[in-house]
Amino acid sequence: MKSGLSINNLQVSFPTIKGLLRVVDHISLECPGNQTLVILGESGCGKSIIAKSIIRILDPQARVSGEIMLNGLDLLKLKEIQMEKIRGTRICIIPQNPDLSLNPVINIQNQLVEPLIIHHLANRNRARNQILQILEKLGFDNGKSILKLYPHQLSGGMKQRLLIAAALLTKPEVIVADEPTKGLDGSTREIIINELIKANQLEQVTSILITHDLNLARRLADQMAVMYAGEIIETSPVDSFFENPRHPYSRALLNSSPEKGFHSIPGQSPSLDQLPGGCRFHPRCPQRLGFCNRERPEIKILDRGKVKCHLY
Ligand code: SF4
Repeated sequence: MKSGLSINNLQVSFPTIKGLLRVVDHISLECPGNQTLVILGESGCGKSIIAKSIIRILDPQARVSGEIMLNGLDLLKLKEIQMEKIRGTRICIIPQNPDLSLNPVINIQNQLVEPLIIHHLANRNRARNQILQILEKLGFDNGKSILKLYPHQLSGGMKQRLLIAAALLTKPEVIVADEPTKGLDGSTREIIINELIKANQLEQVTSILITHDLNLARRLADQMAVMYAGEIIETSPVDSFFENPRHPYSRALLNSSPEKGFHSIPGQSPSLDQLPGGCRFHPRCPQRLGFCNRERPEIKILDRGKVKCHLY
């Protein structure tokens, strides 16, 4: 079994003209080996910052504290030169926007071969064969011709599929996928979801999947973590989450899905520089108690999971 990843008390802040803005607030998460942890939340809640923290590609101005442990190694304590050896080999990212990850003037073969050569994992011929094998396993029936193409000759969905294949090439311990279906149409989304399921089955990799897509979460997750306004407010195994979500925000999220009748959540997520006092969800919470606007809830441990809410 491959090692898991654990995040302990992660905090990320950025300097602004008004002082430090905390965008990730005391987050602790466990992703056991070979499992998929889905971090679910609306846009702007800070979930992509967690992805960037794991892979250590945050803006250099970011102030980061806490621990991100991979097999006994605290990634946050590594020097950049050490992290360069891990990034792209032991931890790979499937980014949100494939156009920003693929170089428009280099053909696909050279872009995929490069990481294997840079990390001394294969020579050019062997790397090409490995790529073709992965493409075949993932169901590409025309791998050789795809490798000759340039990014502008491929659709958005195809580029994303290639980045999933690229992430598997070095047989990483952990894959971080940041909104891998964002901006894709319905049928392409379905292809990408199936691709991710296949990728997990093929390589039995530990995955952290960042998304706001409930359908994607339900189909890929082993463990769920729900994020709201910079905090994790609920964690639980996926079956328990979808059968019996505990936090009022989790319940509201599930009720906003098409299957449950599309009940939108009243109000809007707060901006991270204007957070309400007490529980951050209180202005939108249908079950708020009299003191929820004053007292911040602590994390409570339940029979199957954890929740941050005064109701427990
Ligand atoms: Fe609602 Fe209060 Fe729980 Fe926050 S702490 S989710 S306001 S009940």
